[in-house]
Amino acid sequence: MLIASVNGININYNVEGQGEPLLMIMGLGSTSAAWRFQRRFFRKYYQGITFDNRGAGKTDKPAGPYSMKQMADDTVVLLDHLAIKKAHVMGVSMGGKIAQEVAINYPGKVDKLVLANTYHLYLRPGDELIARLGGLHQFMGWEGPLLTDSGGFQVFSLQDLRKVDDDGVTFRSHLDGSTHRFTPEKVMSIEENLGADIAMVLDECAPPTQRDYNEKALRRTHLWAERCQKAHTRSDQALFGIVQGGVFPDLREQSARFLIDLDFPGYAVGGLAVGETKEQMHTVLDLTDQLLPENKPRYLMGVGTLEDFFEAVSRGIDIFDCVLPTRLARHGAAFTHTGRINLRNLSLSEDQKPIEEGCLCYTCQHFTRSYIRHLMASKEILGLYLASIHNLHFLLDTMRQIRESILDGSFETLKAEMVTKLKMKSDE
Ligand SMILES: [Zn+2]
Repeated sequence: MLIASVNGININYNVEGQGEPLLMIMGLGSTSAAWRFQRRFFRKYYQGITFDNRGAGKTDKPAGPYSMKQMADDTVVLLDHLAIKKAHVMGVSMGGKIAQEVAINYPGKVDKLVLANTYHLYLRPGDELIARLGGLHQFMGWEGPLLTDSGGFQVFSLQDLRKVDDDGVTFRSHLDGSTHRFTPEKVMSIEENLGADIAMVLDECAPPTQRDYNEKALRRTHLWAERCQKAHTRSDQALFGIVQGGVFPDLREQSARFLIDLDFPGYAVGGLAVGETKEQMHTVLDLTDQLLPENKPRYLMGVGTLEDFFEAVSRGIDIFDCVLPTRLARHGAAFTHTGRINLRNLSLSEDQKPIEEGCLCYTCQHFTRSYIRHLMASKEILGLYLASIHNLHFLLDTMRQIRESILDGSFETLKAEMVTKLKMKSDE
């Protein structure tokens, strides 16, 4: 057995076998030795982790009382200690209760990432207020990963309300018309106040097919990337660079090379999915795939359909963000593996199936299409909420499948299967 010093105590644990991690949590009054038969069986298929709960076996026995939450924390910290990102969790008796606590308190421990919008948070409620309240993680009650954009995209989409020069951009708030100025240094200070895990540099987003504008914007984007890097001080926050250059391969290459020299911990590809064709997007991604360092994460900004996911992952992209799952849900549309369905459709009024059969999301586990359609028809906000849960789950679950398929070498098969199913629907 091994000892890990976690959560203020020494935990006695054991790891056996290879495969996906399987965490086995013992019940009250027993020790991990009681798993010996399961351990022997499961080690053929899984990396089995067993341990003594606090107060049991060879683990420390600090003064009580102990809470379920505390014991769930112990297991999660143990997984962290073992560098295990997520595990199948199995509990017996009280161990089952601890397993539930793990599920309730750490649902998004690793594979979900939330993007928080810098422009909007800066204007309301204000980044300094969020800093005073302990940063975004605490403010939102979200322990999972967080990313903030630079606010640049929103500012540049204000069109008539902004003025850009080499030093930064001045804009008027869409809320009250007040004047504000973003410089690279100001944006870094806002993003550090917000305190997400990943921050983005300030860049200038040019319309993708205008050559002159893209050349000018690129020069600024690079100046600002350097200044952001200099101004950035938080060592617990990764600052990503953004490759720009529109649909022009030479500009994209120039941008990638410039930013690689600055040695950011991750790179985004910006300025896509803003009006160019799919072919143009794929050409740019083919190029960045060759140029960007293999050992650093690559983030494609603002892209979020299933087809795009597969095409972009094929071209080396790791991270996505998109408003689509929640925006579509607010318009009554739900993702399924055979295409989108309109939940407002009258034909669903007596449909007893979930949005998608086999889906493990909360919505599909509890509610029928008929009920959700009723909520939508009655303008009940719960309908939009339930559809959002399904759409988010759908995309995250697809990404999970993509990750697994890359690991076991079946990505191309999965891609072919999923894309074919989607095409069948759109041919109907
Ligand atoms: Zn669902």
